[in-house]
Amino acid sequence: MNADPVVAPGGWIGILGGGQLGRMLALAAAELGINIHILDPDPEAPAADVAPRTTRAAFDNKEALTAFARSVDVITYEFENVPAETAAHLAGLRPVFPGPRALATAQDRLEEKSFIRALKIGTAPFAKADTPEEAAAAASVLGLPAILKTRRLGYDGKGQVKLTRPEDAVPTFAALGGVPCILERFVAFEREISVIAARGHDASLAAYDPVENIHENHILRSTLAPARIAEETAGKARAIAQEILTALDYVGVMGVEMFVLGDGSLLVNELAPRVHNSGHWTMDACYVSQFEQHIKAVAGWPLGTTERHSDAIMHNLLGQEVEQWRNLSSDSRTHLHVYGKRQTKPGRKMGHYTRLYARGLRPNRT
Ligand code: AMP
Repeated sequence: MNADPVVAPGGWIGILGGGQLGRMLALAAAELGINIHILDPDPEAPAADVAPRTTRAAFDNKEALTAFARSVDVITYEFENVPAETAAHLAGLRPVFPGPRALATAQDRLEEKSFIRALKIGTAPFAKADTPEEAAAAASVLGLPAILKTRRLGYDGKGQVKLTRPEDAVPTFAALGGVPCILERFVAFEREISVIAARGHDASLAAYDPVENIHENHILRSTLAPARIAEETAGKARAIAQEILTALDYVGVMGVEMFVLGDGSLLVNELAPRVHNSGHWTMDACYVSQFEQHIKAVAGWPLGTTERHSDAIMHNLLGQEVEQWRNLSSDSRTHLHVYGKRQTKPGRKMGHYTRLYARGLRPNRT
């Protein structure tokens, strides 16, 4: 018997986190007649503007978490750093998708890379660097240049430093806060791609075509859909992503970030157990967006198609760039998305826009 819950129209999904991802999930859920309850401590959480219900509470407020869980049918999240205790508390009350295994794996870079390696999927060579001595030993074993990354809580390039000289290993470890780290050999990749993949309650799989990501100062600047890679490489990337979702018994949408090397081989760099910035183009260029797909997956509905009707380039609007909205809205092929954040800060993701092209007719650059 399949005991998995199904959220029907009129039902409720709880989302931990009320940022732009929560907001776009809430909009997609509304189209399916599913209600969203957001939990976020931020009084200005942008998802609250479009969700029928919001609880403003800290992620460790047990009383608020209990009431939140009891008000919904299933729970999901829009950020991977949900505290393990929070996830465990909620999982005792309602199903949480993606499950605790995916969360634990993606929260710790050493667990993540070890899990990927155990599947015999390529990663950058890496070693544990939990102490200054281990960091120094890892640098001599792996060779330099390498990147020292904190195992936990790094994002958008925070919590990582490139090492070029062996004598820098110990001071860099201290500069990162003296917390457990992983050392990764620096990879001279040709390009960075990601696959947005989904897995349903019934173990069915779906993957959008791999896209190419251009970063600036470690923040995603633009996404080219599809990536400028060979068909065969694209097929391998989709298969890798699907294998990872299956191995984690995953339910929901995941972003799988990879490096493409000069010879077409692929190394997995990071797993994002949630909808992902590099999947925003699907809102405008695909029949079913990553947001609708995630809602369908966690609600126990059949997955939608991942086919795209158009090629696309997505650009993030960072900080003051959101003020370009007037110009952007005058271009009929540009789909503008503004997140409604009250405060503009340098580098903050304020919105994005996607320009569509007939398939095969997209310029080959951003
Ligand atoms: P991450 O936080 O692991 O996603 O890393 C952020 C960015 O740093 C990636 O998107 C890459 O551009 C770069 N990076 C991370 N790991 C490596 C590596 N082992 N070799 C080369 N570049 C890397």
